[in-house]
Amino acid sequence: MSEGAAKKEERRKFQAIKGTRDILPPETALWNRVEQTAHEVFATFGFGEIRLPVIETLGLFARSLGTETDIVGKEMFLLAEREPSVVVHPGRFGPPPQSEQERRDEVERVFSEPSMRESIEQQIEESVLALRPEATASVCRAYIEHSMQQLPQPVKLYCIGPMFRRERPQKGRYRQFYQIDAEVLGGTDAPAIDAEVIEMVMTFFERLGLEGVQLDINCIGDKKCRPKYVELLRAELSKVKDKLGPDSQRRIETNPLRVLDSRLESEQKLIEAMPHIADHLCEECAENYRGVKKELELRGVKYRENWRLVRGLDYYMRTTFEITAPGLGSQNAVCGGGRYDGLMELLGGPPTKGIGFAIGEDRLILSLLETGHSPLATRHSPLLYIAWMGEKAYATAIRAAKNLRNAGFSVELPPVEQKFGKALGQADKLGARFALILGDNEVTSGQWTLKTLADGKQEKLRESDLVEHLKKQL
Ligand code: AMP
Repeated sequence: MSEGAAKKEERRKFQAIKGTRDILPPETALWNRVEQTAHEVFATFGFGEIRLPVIETLGLFARSLGTETDIVGKEMFLLAEREPSVVVHPGRFGPPPQSEQERRDEVERVFSEPSMRESIEQQIEESVLALRPEATASVCRAYIEHSMQQLPQPVKLYCIGPMFRRERPQKGRYRQFYQIDAEVLGGTDAPAIDAEVIEMVMTFFERLGLEGVQLDINCIGDKKCRPKYVELLRAELSKVKDKLGPDSQRRIETNPLRVLDSRLESEQKLIEAMPHIADHLCEECAENYRGVKKELELRGVKYRENWRLVRGLDYYMRTTFEITAPGLGSQNAVCGGGRYDGLMELLGGPPTKGIGFAIGEDRLILSLLETGHSPLATRHSPLLYIAWMGEKAYATAIRAAKNLRNAGFSVELPPVEQKFGKALGQADKLGARFALILGDNEVTSGQWTLKTLADGKQEKLRESDLVEHLKKQL
């Protein structure tokens, strides 16, 4: 092969694209256990599963998350289904433009007319598709689309699936990642709802055996009291603007609450000195927050108050929470959630209360692995390897494999004949617990040989007794 051809060949090696990855067995067994546990635990809290598309219009996310957010502004994967028909009609504002400069002036004029601008933006939002960066907006869209406000309230839904954000990949941060998401929509905003949602996610982590999790909660006020606090915070941050980094300086203008999220070492002392929202809540929000804490205590859920825990999106209000887990380094948040009573209206639906959370499944699995949970421990049945030799024995082996698999055992049936020594070596390598040995002797006598690989013990068994015998050993 010439050097050029070799290079070409090299280039043909396809790889998963940046920020995406393959999740392989045996790790997938752990993923299945996590998802199965979510199905079981969430069902006991009255949640039903919703399956959603992974593509939606850009408009859904632009409207719900806001175009100023990092997610919409920088991180979305967009697909142009069709070109938006944004045409500046020549003649609409007079004769067709004669020069490039005239054309530019015309475009500028159209864009500066608010109704035109709105219609163009809407066209773009409707005709450009996005890979979903989160699930809450889609769940709300589905609630409105299927008139779920007519069902008994609240409607409790959960979903599991991939999300997409063009972030800088690192440990625990991917461009395709998976979330387990739950939402309670409609009904009341009684503190017990918030507390029960938090209790559910904590029960889920406990059922998985995830240790060392830390729940942080906060109350970020509502439409009445938050704007005043945000102004106060903006004013206080402006006083120390020169000492803050560029990101925080920008956020003083765009979204001062997000400054509280900063992890920049040099900013920590300054931020700690900022006013706390708890001291600026209106009476209704303060009362609600006291209620949520009391309800958590009634349920035995341990929490830590963290005044800096904000969700930088406008539609969030009152309760916010975050859960961190060990073994994850700097990306240690495994779950984020909060109340968003205004969101449904923002999306064109009826006024509807809402609270929900999203668990980062990749990080949850990573934390389980780092804290000693082996995916192999989740294997449902011990592996049984069938070592067969001879044509007659092969037919028997096929029958045995079928019966054992029907009884729920995991069976490895070698596709070609192997010497018994080689077969047993292979069984060992695969981590099988038993080998079923089928040769001429076994087939003729009807007495099969079962070998326990750990101690080499061999037993003779009749075909009809095999399944029962194995079940007793589980
Ligand atoms: P958010 O939707 O941003 O509130 O995130 C909720 C949870 O999803 C976080 O606590 C993380 O566990 C997880 N998560 C968010 N972004 C990523 C990402 N890029 N990669 C992996 N997990 C993520």
